[in-house]
Amino acid sequence: MTLHSNDDQAEVRALLSQLLSFDTTSRESNLELIHFIKTYLEELGVSSTLIFNEERTKANLLARFGPQGDGGVMLSGHTDVVPVDGQNWTFPAFELTEHEQKYYGRGSADMKGFIACVLAAVPRFAKQRLKMPVYLAFSYDEEVGCLGVRSLIEHLKSSPERPALCIIGEPTSMKPVYGHKGKVAMRCNVRGHACHSAYAPEGVNAIEYAAQIIGELSQVSEALAKHTDDQFDPPYSTIQTGVIKGGAALNIVPESCQFDMEMRYLPGVDANATFDKLEQFAKGTLEPKMKAISSESNIQFEKLSAYPPLLTDKQSDLAKWVGQWADNASYETVAFGTEGGLFDEAGVATMICGPGSMDQGHKPNEFIEIDQLNRCSSMLHNLCSWLSEA
Ligand SMILES: [Zn+2]
Repeated sequence: MTLHSNDDQAEVRALLSQLLSFDTTSRESNLELIHFIKTYLEELGVSSTLIFNEERTKANLLARFGPQGDGGVMLSGHTDVVPVDGQNWTFPAFELTEHEQKYYGRGSADMKGFIACVLAAVPRFAKQRLKMPVYLAFSYDEEVGCLGVRSLIEHLKSSPERPALCIIGEPTSMKPVYGHKGKVAMRCNVRGHACHSAYAPEGVNAIEYAAQIIGELSQVSEALAKHTDDQFDPPYSTIQTGVIKGGAALNIVPESCQFDMEMRYLPGVDANATFDKLEQFAKGTLEPKMKAISSESNIQFEKLSAYPPLLTDKQSDLAKWVGQWADNASYETVAFGTEGGLFDEAGVATMICGPGSMDQGHKPNEFIEIDQLNRCSSMLHNLCSWLSEA
């Protein structure tokens, strides 16, 4: 492992302290943080492009430096964090607190620690005579379904030059991660027909029809469990209902019921086909019975969010290189999702490797170990040397 000067460590700490001070909970604007990064990069002679959302309240930042030409390596992370609402924090959530070789604060692990390391490394990259370009890609709205990064990827796709490789610095304890499952979140709205419960047969009970669809999910789950891949934990695709709402009073046949389902699926599994089957059951088997009583009743499915799985070849050059840069050859998959599958679909080979652990992500008193940040800085140092020698 490369040794670090105290200057490097102090710079990472100072940058992380700044990044943590911006409340970039996904529902808030991330523009203050983005402008802080933009100005920081400008002072180092690196220009960046902001890609805004429609309301211009949030933006992705894309920067590129080094030589002209196609290819190169992208370092990517999301700037938003999950809410602290209802969590019991003993440290302040939106400032850095140092305690026992750890930095505390919302986003320290997921994933402002990585962004701080990347920003601290920019002067080194900018000074080197790089043989390939480096891209920085910082997105918004990752935590609410990998939404923001999509416009950044569209921007890359329409650019004449594109990176070949990407490292996403989600917290993996600096282990090179080559895969994760994909996810589809789906809402189902069942519209029935209300009436006095004493005349129940004259109504269409939305809750009871919803229950039949949910019951069908267990059949679907059993079918999904037959296809396994031991690289993942659990080694098969799963589907579950997470939220349900319906009914107004016990003496009224419920007019509406809404529930949300989520599928976590293996690479190679067709999630759409699974939901198509469920929709066929709802539309083909249940809806005619409902409509026979009330023509307005129906069942509607609505996709809430989705991201694809990631499965990068463990034997690929990228996987080998990331293992070398991170000085860690324990290749793994993770249970959580990332923007990696979207980059991969756009033709950018992607690995996940970043400081800190998701054991701390999303929890009260989120922290990152200083040692993890040092390891990340080492990886970036090694990447910089590789880019100037390649
Ligand atoms: Zn994250």
